[in-house]
Amino acid sequence: MRRLRLALLVVLAVVAAACAGGTGDDLARDGSPDGTTGSAPAPAEASSTTTTTAGLPQAGPLPPSGDCPAVPAQAQPDPGRPRYAMDVRVLPGLDAVDGRLTVRFTPDLPTDRLVFRLWPNGPRSAAAGAHLDAGPVFLGSSAPVATSQPDPTTLVVPLDPPLRPGDAVEATVPWRLTLPGPANDRLAVQDGAVRLGSFFPILAWEPGVGWALEPPTSVFGEASTAPVADFSYSVTVPDGLSVLASGVPEAGRWEALAVRDVAVSVGRFRTVEGVASAPWPVKVTVGVHEGLDDDPGAYLDRVVRSMEDFSRRFGAYPYPAHTLALTPGLSGGLEYPGHVMQGPGTIGRTTSHEVGHLWFYSLVGNNQGRDPWIDEGLATWAEARFEGSLGELAGKGMPAPAQGRAGEPMTYWETRQDSYYRGTYVQPVQALAALGDPDRVDCALRHLVAAHAFGVARPGDVEAALAKVFPEAPGVLAGAGISTP
Ligand SMILES: [Zn+2]
Repeated sequence: MRRLRLALLVVLAVVAAACAGGTGDDLARDGSPDGTTGSAPAPAEASSTTTTTAGLPQAGPLPPSGDCPAVPAQAQPDPGRPRYAMDVRVLPGLDAVDGRLTVRFTPDLPTDRLVFRLWPNGPRSAAAGAHLDAGPVFLGSSAPVATSQPDPTTLVVPLDPPLRPGDAVEATVPWRLTLPGPANDRLAVQDGAVRLGSFFPILAWEPGVGWALEPPTSVFGEASTAPVADFSYSVTVPDGLSVLASGVPEAGRWEALAVRDVAVSVGRFRTVEGVASAPWPVKVTVGVHEGLDDDPGAYLDRVVRSMEDFSRRFGAYPYPAHTLALTPGLSGGLEYPGHVMQGPGTIGRTTSHEVGHLWFYSLVGNNQGRDPWIDEGLATWAEARFEGSLGELAGKGMPAPAQGRAGEPMTYWETRQDSYYRGTYVQPVQALAALGDPDRVDCALRHLVAAHAFGVARPGDVEAALAKVFPEAPGVLAGAGISTP
């Protein structure tokens, strides 16, 4: 079904930063007019009633369409994915969070350890005053096991005997998170609102590769990698506060199936609800914390429209619910599966960028420490398609430290933060735009999503999807500094 949306060109001054990227200065300069696009997305005929191993609807194959080769059915989540049960309690005073999780893990490769990442102990969150203590760790019903912490963000639990592929282990980890005060980041407390992103010990397994040990950086961006998992978790908050989070609330718990992380915002929210057809119904809830004068309905409209647009461009969206929380003191947006955090005044391109991450990072994962360009570049492509800003992005200059360096890991950008946004967000978009017809790029990305939904895509996977439509893609990517081993 084709739906042409007439451009409703309400040009607003945009002060919003894009998600988790670059310096505020660069992004403020990059502010783009806020208008909807008039381009027509490709059709998505994903009306299959097949369901995945997580009970989610599975997009069926798409026939060839114009220049776009037939797209296979979307991949299924690994039936052996981890399963988390977690309880989260935000303490009165909003200065700490107590938690306890039990996770059942079944590796697809042999391993002699579990590795939990403690992202609140990374330099950016730690400098703001956050700290995550984890342990003691119990394996099954055993006594606590000795663990080690080779760096503040890495908790290693030795396994004796080691696990063989397909063997399961169950670990229980109590934890306490010390909350910072106001911070322009994923962990923050300000004016009675709490952001909890990357906030609990999480298994950093990359299927087919092993433990993801990429170090944290001080960049306003992510270095985390995790496999999709099933989460069932409770969130207890002080009286008068409410919760917007990843997953579907059911009987006091949130159930989030086949997602690679969960995040929570706590506040006094004015909320509005709607439904996106992507093409299955996605319940969308937007909440604006008290004291902020943003209109939740305007954000809801933008989330729903971009979600429907991207489902036609990149493939059906399988998850049943999505929440967006606006809380104070955040200069852009932060993406999590099923939950996005944005600051006030970010209705422009930030909103569509974060919805783009629901396909690129959430559904199709990547190692965000090693290959940050995959999710940031492709979410920026999505943003540009929705906003009609491809030409503007294609014309941006590239600072010398970023030129031909799009494929660099987060550690490269640690000392080049002024160039991070242009190098990691804009440069991949320029490479994609250089391939040719943007509709055919969307087609190639449908192939990427179909092949790697619920997985962790590597640069070679992106290259292979693009090469299905553009045989010259490897050379173009190499010119941007994206090469595949
Ligand atoms: Zn982003």
